[in-house]
Amino acid sequence: PRPKMAVRSRISTSLSVGRILTNLENSCATPLPVLRHVADAMAEDMRAGLAVDGGSYLKMILSFVNTLPTGNEEGLFYALDLGGTNFRVLRVQLGGKDKRVIDTEFEQVSIPQELMFRTSEELFDFIASGLARFVQKESGKFSPARGRKREIGFTFSFPVKQTSIDSGILIKWTKGFAVSGAAGRDVVACLNEAMERQGLDMRVSALVNDTVGTLAGARYWDDDVMVAVILGTGTNACYVERTDAIPKLNGHASSSGMTIINTEWGAFSNGLPLTEFDKEMDVASINPGEQIFEKTISGMYLGEIVRRVLLKMAEAGSLFGDPVPEKLFTPFSLRTPDLCAMQKDSSGNLEAVGSILNNTVGVRSSLTARRVVLEVCDTIVKRGGRLAGAGIVGILQKMDNDSRGLVFGKRTVVAMDGGLYEHYPQYRRYIQDAVNELLGDEVSSNVIIEHSKDGSGIGAALLAAANSKYA
Ligand code: BGC
Ligand code: MG
Repeated sequence: PRPKMAVRSRISTSLSVGRILTNLENSCATPLPVLRHVADAMAEDMRAGLAVDGGSYLKMILSFVNTLPTGNEEGLFYALDLGGTNFRVLRVQLGGKDKRVIDTEFEQVSIPQELMFRTSEELFDFIASGLARFVQKESGKFSPARGRKREIGFTFSFPVKQTSIDSGILIKWTKGFAVSGAAGRDVVACLNEAMERQGLDMRVSALVNDTVGTLAGARYWDDDVMVAVILGTGTNACYVERTDAIPKLNGHASSSGMTIINTEWGAFSNGLPLTEFDKEMDVASINPGEQIFEKTISGMYLGEIVRRVLLKMAEAGSLFGDPVPEKLFTPFSLRTPDLCAMQKDSSGNLEAVGSILNNTVGVRSSLTARRVVLEVCDTIVKRGGRLAGAGIVGILQKMDNDSRGLVFGKRTVVAMDGGLYEHYPQYRRYIQDAVNELLGDEVSSNVIIEHSKDGSGIGAALLAAANSKYA
């Protein structure tokens, strides 16, 4: 790590800006003992959530996915993915063991901001009409099975209490969604009603979380995939669990003896290094007190935390001169991709940093100020990445303990997806650093953290195939 003192003396800035920066770095620090505490607490909370429903901040949701793709899946299947920022539709022609994916097509649209605050009907109508348009464009190279409805794997990336493989009740919205009339309802029923309004006759055969879709999609290509993690707008992880290690199943083992557990780890909050900025952001959020891990490590929030720090530096230490520009007061005006773009700038006068600051929060900045901004970005991104790494180790640790070394003793793959993971190299490196520090060289060489790009779409389609109503 770079010596902090050198940075501090290179940046000769106002006393209060320096003090805010030092305080920030101290409260965001994630030395090994902090990482270890987070990993241990994650493992412990997982056990508590598996013991009884409501036993933990971690919901440890039963996915009803008890078998993973084998490669033998065949036929035409659709997938529908409603996540944080985008809505995707996909079709795939599966060809079985040898041919695997014969053909696939997808479309993606961003979810209009206003739909996040309207009614459930409006949101699901938007989805169903997008799906209907897409289905109409199905060409002859895809072969639907005669006399059957087209089947869909529905990836719905919010906390859902599954009631079967193809139904589940929305527990609450996350990631800035505040759609009315959906919480407490079966989201498959919501989709079915919207499809009916569109005159679209399809069958939802699997309802899955995006982590579960990612795990299934990655497992299709690699038998060693045991965990999937999403680091995007929001965050979450799922993993393969033995049914006899799930007390809340009351002995109802699945025939395979395993199942996938959706941890909903975004709700974790035990022992996190938090700052005044995190607390203020949480209070101002639409879900105060909830999703604290998510608010500390995921893409929706990193930019906003940095903005809050910069605002304080501007107000208390005139970081950008006087008066403080209006736009710096606007919540979410600085976004995580902006942090990433700024951290790419390695030029001498940090030209790009200056123009991004100007375009987003409307400030003009000196070279000194730009250096401070980069330090703030790095501090927040480093904390996020390292905590995500500790969370991953917590899950692996839990699995390894229960299986007497069967996880750390052999190649184990963690499938990763989400825009934050995909696009932010520093963040990715911090994850790996934390994993290496916690596990040591020998064990961490067995743990492969691997990008599984858009695996959740294919994964959901594969799960629809595995759970086909016509099989
Ligand atoms: C949701 C999870 C989802 C994650 C990543 C979180 O806000 O609660 O269900 O998997 O975001 O999309
Ligand atoms: Mg997504």
